[in-house]
Amino acid sequence: MKSTGFTKVTGENMSLPNSSDNSLVHQGLVGGNGRLLSVHAHPDDESSKGAGTVARYVDSGVEATLVCCTGGEEGDVLNEALNLPEIRENMAEVRRQELAAAVEIIGYQKTYMLGYRDSGMKDSEANSHPECFAAAPLDEAVGRLVEIIRVERPHVILTYPDDQSGYDHPDHVRVHDISVLAFDAAGNPEAYPEAGAAWQPSKLYYTPWSRARVEATHNKFKELGLESPFDERWFKRPSQDHRITTKIEVRDWFDRRCDALLAHATQVSPDSPFWFGLPRDVAKDVYPWEDYILARSHVSTEFPEDDLFAGIYDCQHGASQLGAGCNSEAHRPRQLSDRAV
Ligand SMILES: [Zn+2]
Repeated sequence: MKSTGFTKVTGENMSLPNSSDNSLVHQGLVGGNGRLLSVHAHPDDESSKGAGTVARYVDSGVEATLVCCTGGEEGDVLNEALNLPEIRENMAEVRRQELAAAVEIIGYQKTYMLGYRDSGMKDSEANSHPECFAAAPLDEAVGRLVEIIRVERPHVILTYPDDQSGYDHPDHVRVHDISVLAFDAAGNPEAYPEAGAAWQPSKLYYTPWSRARVEATHNKFKELGLESPFDERWFKRPSQDHRITTKIEVRDWFDRRCDALLAHATQVSPDSPFWFGLPRDVAKDVYPWEDYILARSHVSTEFPEDDLFAGIYDCQHGASQLGAGCNSEAHRPRQLSDRAV
């Protein structure tokens, strides 16, 4: 298969894509476990959104793939201790190393860099860089993601919500746009025929930042007499909570998420009140879930869900919990319906 511009890296072993290395993904899923793919904009987004969920699924045997659309070249050094010229001048490489450390902690087995440049914040100079993600032809970016989906054949895809009015970074908006288009196109053999054999993922989820989480955290700060990092702007963001279909309990994976965030040493200060203002033992109980909106589904499911793989396995043996497959060959995942949610 001809690669269209992205780079596959695996953990700390950064290497160029090996297009013949598809033996695993072309075996199909016979009694195996689920596959999950997350699409993120910049290095560190994979740690701040859904990291506990991915860590939990990896521990249950799911194969997890990360697609990071940009190199995060425009990220400011937010940790004063590391605000050094040699780091600022080498931002792309530094962030690549930080990403490698974070994915190792979370447990992603594979990481793909989609190959675009960070577009910077809205209305910044970086928006006009010719290689930036936001300026890339939509069709090209969707094609790259379609190829990765067809190679990795995920059952579940996680991406950003349609409503990002609370934080409308151009790259985050673009992540949403290409994910939705690629989710549909990957399963259509007539779309991007050069990108491999069609594969239709079963479910597409959005990752909202729930109001319930903000409120619970804000209230805990106040209860402990600490200054809350959540100001009025947070409460003016439109709430998406009524759309949440799925809650994944991640209390026991909270430390993994914190450690992954800390691996992004230039972006996340250990003194950040936003990330670490509450003691860890308190913070992990404040809101021990990560929330999702099921945006598209080709399988039947019931709400509320507590498993992203609910409905994907047709197994009577209870083996489908949290994406773990049944060992019986008869229990391959199947498409139960075409109902769009
Ligand atoms: Zn980002």
